[in-house]
Amino acid sequence: MAKVPELFGSMVFNEQVMRERLPKDIYKALHSTMSTGKPISSDVADVVANAMKDWAIEKGATHYTHWFQPMTGITAEKHDGFIQPAEGGTVIMNFSGKQLIKGEPDASSFPSGGLRSTFEARGYTAWDPTSYAFVRGTVLYIPTAFIAYSGQVLDKKTPLLRSMDALNKAALRMLKLFGKTPDRVVASVGAEQEYFLIPLELYSKRPDLIITGRTLFGAKPPKGQELEDHYFGNIKGKVLEFMEDLDEELWKLGIYAKTRHNEVAPAQHEFAPIFSTVNIATDHNQLAMAVMRKVAYEHGMVCLLHEKPFAGVNGSGKHNNWSISTSDGENLLEPGKDLKNNLQFMIFLTAVIEAVDKHQDLLRLSVASAGNDHRLGGNEAPPAIISMFLGDEITDLLETISSGKEYSNRTGNKLSTGVESVPVIYEDTTDRNRTSPVAFTGNKFEFRSLGSSFNIACTNIMINAAVADTLNSFADVLEKVNKKDFHKAAMELIKAEYIAHKRIVFNGDNYTEEWQKESARRGLLNLGGTPQSLAYYDTQENIEMFKRLKIYTAEEVRARKEILLENYCKVINIEALTMCDITIKSILPAATKFSTALADNIAKLSAFGADTMAQHSIVKQVASLINDAYKTEQDLEAAVAHAKEGGDHQTAANLYCDNVVTTMQKLRTYCDALEKIMPKDLWPFPTYTDLLLYVG
Ligand code: ADP
Ligand code: MG
Repeated sequence: MAKVPELFGSMVFNEQVMRERLPKDIYKALHSTMSTGKPISSDVADVVANAMKDWAIEKGATHYTHWFQPMTGITAEKHDGFIQPAEGGTVIMNFSGKQLIKGEPDASSFPSGGLRSTFEARGYTAWDPTSYAFVRGTVLYIPTAFIAYSGQVLDKKTPLLRSMDALNKAALRMLKLFGKTPDRVVASVGAEQEYFLIPLELYSKRPDLIITGRTLFGAKPPKGQELEDHYFGNIKGKVLEFMEDLDEELWKLGIYAKTRHNEVAPAQHEFAPIFSTVNIATDHNQLAMAVMRKVAYEHGMVCLLHEKPFAGVNGSGKHNNWSISTSDGENLLEPGKDLKNNLQFMIFLTAVIEAVDKHQDLLRLSVASAGNDHRLGGNEAPPAIISMFLGDEITDLLETISSGKEYSNRTGNKLSTGVESVPVIYEDTTDRNRTSPVAFTGNKFEFRSLGSSFNIACTNIMINAAVADTLNSFADVLEKVNKKDFHKAAMELIKAEYIAHKRIVFNGDNYTEEWQKESARRGLLNLGGTPQSLAYYDTQENIEMFKRLKIYTAEEVRARKEILLENYCKVINIEALTMCDITIKSILPAATKFSTALADNIAKLSAFGADTMAQHSIVKQVASLINDAYKTEQDLEAAVAHAKEGGDHQTAANLYCDNVVTTMQKLRTYCDALEKIMPKDLWPFPTYTDLLLYVG
């Protein structure tokens, strides 16, 4: 491997390349666009495009693409060659400023939630110059936003950029009251990514994995994660080779891949980058997921990003570490040494507390999906109830302020390590709580409920919006106050808002039965499944907030809700049909074959007067399970047909959730029971033991 600093960003048209390759005035103009978000002139764009093309060709590119994030949840790209006909049957390589700035993909096949009909399919992509272009394979990728010609958003990036803008404005308003005027305030995000890695050869024998990304059947293996020997355990050779190549590919693309380790479930792993500005973190996470799949394939493995590929062991999530900082490098969620006097920190912290409490519904629905429904509340990920962990020190401080008492700073208790050469560690006063959906971890919040396959834009749009809105309401109050009364007014505001919203703070174990009861007593939302959560998207209050912050119009909110509900229905529909297909075509025939063999065996042995008690018992069990599975398969077909006629998306989604998913679970239990008593060579696909405990 080349030296990492040389390798890092070698496929990225980054600041350094721009400085080297662009004339000074052009570089300056582009840089100003990048830091202020102002539009770029066509002259500047032409020069940038040309330099970008020359650089990309040197890196092996023959094509370019506007890379965008439609509502499908994955990224989209359409490659166009640089070639342009020239004299004498030759070509030249060309790329103009116009092509760089704007693309016009046919928008008609992307979900729009009814925002535009097919006859007005036009949409366009617009370059996001704050996210660097890069080369992958033979293609120059240009990160873009995707918008309908009528101006409505069709993607996940545009609202994310809008939410960043709203947060920037609100935070600047607040900082001004503290006498600070940085150029910009941005949200920074570090997304930890969990995944499973399994051998390609076994994967290709599992139609359920191929079609739906998760196993729809599979009896529990004798060994799962109960020995707790996988987490941070020794990494298998095959897996480590994958991780090394993955890091190298990610580094080339300018992604700060930093941490890699085994996760809790067998065959489960994690990768985490160093945090960056939220739109870049989003692009990088989308890109990383694509690279993970590709590198795995090159290693004869498959990277599973589904939230729950295997029942009975932990599923995969994504931890979204979020903070806000100024262009001067100040982290606004950093308590500072003297917590008690850190008024500015407390204002921002209180704004986040209020934001999370007021918008539990939006945060909850931003992590809702058919896949994630299997994880949330399953004692492996936070429950569906949104609450916040602040840790004892911060909670004490806010409690003291709200009771009007004097607070004295705590110092961490010394932790003794018992080993002479190990330095004494001070106890982290924001102790780790791994069960909370929103945990304060020292100088950032960790949102833990996201699913592993998610585009992190969704959750971050909600957080940015909610915090921006709260900061604006705080600024509305504090801007009216005289300078000399500012401190007192700010303290009163913190006190009042903390008291009003402290029900959202819970430092205990979120997995317990007691918390279910306690949260209900506090009046917190407990939105069990995806359809139930999505119903809250377009409440009047939410629409008003998005409008106020210029992130979504009312139509855009409703369109998003429809897209997500429809997607949920489609996913469950595909899973259910796949189950029916596998049951009828593979499992029942295999079981029938087995029972026939047993019956033949009984008949033959009986001729000798042999005892066939065991065969009798097994054949009866198999026959009974075949009947149960067949009946349930028929019920499942009926449930799907019924849900399909559900009418609007919300009704259909409710039917899929209440009838189809439950019938799928029932069918699975019969089939898994069959797997348990069938001979391995007759079972039609690799088992959990094969898939999870492979040798490598
Ligand atoms: P964990 O113990 O959960 O694995 P880490 O302390 O390793 O957490 O950090 C997880 C992520 O948080 C990393 O991606 C890291 O870069 C990110 N992170 C650290 N500081 C910030 C910050 N100020 N804003 C956003 N993310 C941050
Ligand atoms: Mg974490």
